[in-house]
Amino acid sequence: MYWFAFFGNSLILRRKGDAYEVPQGDVPPTPTQEWTTIQVLPDLEGVPCRAYTLLAPPREGLAEGLTTMELRTSYNVLPHPLHNMAGKAAELIYWDSNTRYCGHCGAPMERSTDISKRCTNCGKEVWPQVAPAIIVRILKKAVTDADGNTIEPEKILLVHARNFRHADRYGLVAGFVETGETLEQCVEREVMEETHLRITNLRYFGSQPWPYPSGIMIGFTADYDSGELHLQDEELSRGGWFDRDHLPQIPDKMSIARRLIDDWLDTRK
Ligand SMILES: [Zn+2]
Repeated sequence: MYWFAFFGNSLILRRKGDAYEVPQGDVPPTPTQEWTTIQVLPDLEGVPCRAYTLLAPPREGLAEGLTTMELRTSYNVLPHPLHNMAGKAAELIYWDSNTRYCGHCGAPMERSTDISKRCTNCGKEVWPQVAPAIIVRILKKAVTDADGNTIEPEKILLVHARNFRHADRYGLVAGFVETGETLEQCVEREVMEETHLRITNLRYFGSQPWPYPSGIMIGFTADYDSGELHLQDEELSRGGWFDRDHLPQIPDKMSIARRLIDDWLDTRK
């Protein structure tokens, strides 16, 4: 059995030389408390998976060979299916700890299935909620003269949001989907709000669970249509058009932002 044990944002892993593994065994890799809820996850290639979180590090410390690593960082050391399952575990734990009481009548909630709860008083049911957010790669076509010579190469719009964890890093326009809007409307609204640009040729690219704490990123590609770039000062501090040979620091490999950018870099024309 795999154990996805958390302490805060960190995952407890077993260190073997330079490698890291998700702890396996019949019992949890750390002591648990009587109030610790063990979450039941789907099997991974036939191996049962469980998850739990500790409110504080074990008083006696972690057992020999165990260490902690931020969930995001664990992307770099775990096989993708295990990292994805760790993300699912983190989302379930977050949901569990935020739905102890009924939002309708305030009575305690009790587990109905592995991924649902029912109010002990009014019967209201809740499931884990996923917050969708869009992210979009916007390209500006190359400018050529009458003879077909490139005057300006194709460029990508990159922005630095004030809430980025890295001061020098640039990413793509992104934002949460609001109630009552389609994903396409959300992309157009976010692009307009953040950059004052109009886009065209909006296409779906792919998606990625984003368990920080419980989102999904839905990636799109689009082309610049019209407008002058004016950044929304509240959310973005810097941004601009960059060609392939003059890129600033871009996001980590783990993100769909990076996949969108790499996809463009791979199609150099
Ligand atoms: Zn209730």
